Amino acid sequence: MKAVTWHGKHDVRTETVEDPKILDPNDVLLKVTSTAICGSDLHLYAGSIPEMRSGDVLGHEFMGEVVETGANVSRIKKGQRVVVPFCIACGECYFCKHDQTSLCDNTNPDAHKVEELYGYSGSGLFGYSHLFGGYAGGQAEYVRVPHADVGCYVIPNGIPDEQVLFLTDIFPTGYQAADQCDLKGGETVAIWGAGPVGLFAALSCKLLGAGRVVVIDRIPFRLEMAREKVGVETLHLDKDDIYERLREITDGRGPDCCIDAVGLDAHGTSLHEMYDKVKRAVGLETDDGTALRQAINCCRKGGVVSVPGVYGGVVDKYPIGAQFGKALRMIGGQTHVHRYLDRLFDHVQNGVDASFPITHRASLDEASDLYETFRTKEDECVKVVMRP
Ligand code: NAD
Ligand code: ZN
Repeated sequence: MKAVTWHGKHDVRTETVEDPKILDPNDVLLKVTSTAICGSDLHLYAGSIPEMRSGDVLGHEFMGEVVETGANVSRIKKGQRVVVPFCIACGECYFCKHDQTSLCDNTNPDAHKVEELYGYSGSGLFGYSHLFGGYAGGQAEYVRVPHADVGCYVIPNGIPDEQVLFLTDIFPTGYQAADQCDLKGGETVAIWGAGPVGLFAALSCKLLGAGRVVVIDRIPFRLEMAREKVGVETLHLDKDDIYERLREITDGRGPDCCIDAVGLDAHGTSLHEMYDKVKRAVGLETDDGTALRQAINCCRKGGVVSVPGVYGGVVDKYPIGAQFGKALRMIGGQTHVHRYLDRLFDHVQNGVDASFPITHRASLDEASDLYETFRTKEDECVKVVMRP
């Protein structure tokens, strides 16, 4: 079959690889109908994630039709259309039972490596290195889905792929970022990053009752999309004095909640470098965490800083004094996608347009160019969807 494979920094290719097979009785095989490139894929593209191997199949945002089911699969049937959360969950462990599926204890056979590096471990992930299980991803014609009864979310016919594809990741990720702010209604929320995650966080803040939402970025057409398609206010990272402007609109206090939807610099502070340094437990000098530091700095006393942006290892100059002194509640993490599927699918059925960030549509053959376009944000690119 055709698949998008990783070969090193800024080197992805569309090639022919072996078809996936059922390896476990709880697996299904999907014929992929739509798949997207995520900001998290840019960390792989930048060569920032250790334990990638040449030829690994990329992609954790995908949906398709079930073409084969393993012997133990009971809920999911051949022929069904499903979307699949990016985090693989067993449904049985303590964390799955407590609705924290991205922390699943049973789906990452490489957990010991993550544990050793970062001191924690979470679920297996599709298309995300041999730190997270080495599962082949879904930027391909076919993909194997383990724990299919837990993961697959059935989509009735008649709803286009583009309205539900982002249930796999970025819609729930934006939603969880907002949900973790514990909005009661009327709050002011500032969001760093007008990428797909920041935009879905903005939309979700509105769905959850925020009074005022301000999105911050430096890319004009992404800010424009935030204003026009999500209906929120924007600030320009380099042209506006972010701290002062946010103070001005909050009676001098700062936003009630700040969301960092940026994370690690996608242009590549290498986690390989961190890898060694973390082990030696020394400080780092990087620019990573700029958005995080600004979010902590701007947030009002007693507020919430919610971090969907991905970090690994350590971030230099994390302002723990401000966090402590301002009594901020910090919360982050991979998204517990399964938790939000029903809720968000209802929103889609009730008319929320979940396809709004899509700017580029193509086939798998164009993946190499599209990764580059999505990285550079040229050609007014916000979100890329490929149809095998
Ligand atoms: P993206 O690269 O398309 O968007 C990031 C945006 O941040 C860009 O528009 C960029 O211009 C902007 N930016 C960069 N530095 C900034 C700064 N200092 N202040 C304000 N804006 C800044 O990526 P995306 O798809 O939107 O993903 C964003 C982050 O969310 C990534 O780190 C990704 O890995 C992460 N993510 C996390 C989860 C999760 O489970 N927690 C899931 C999906 C994505
Ligand atoms: Zn993603």
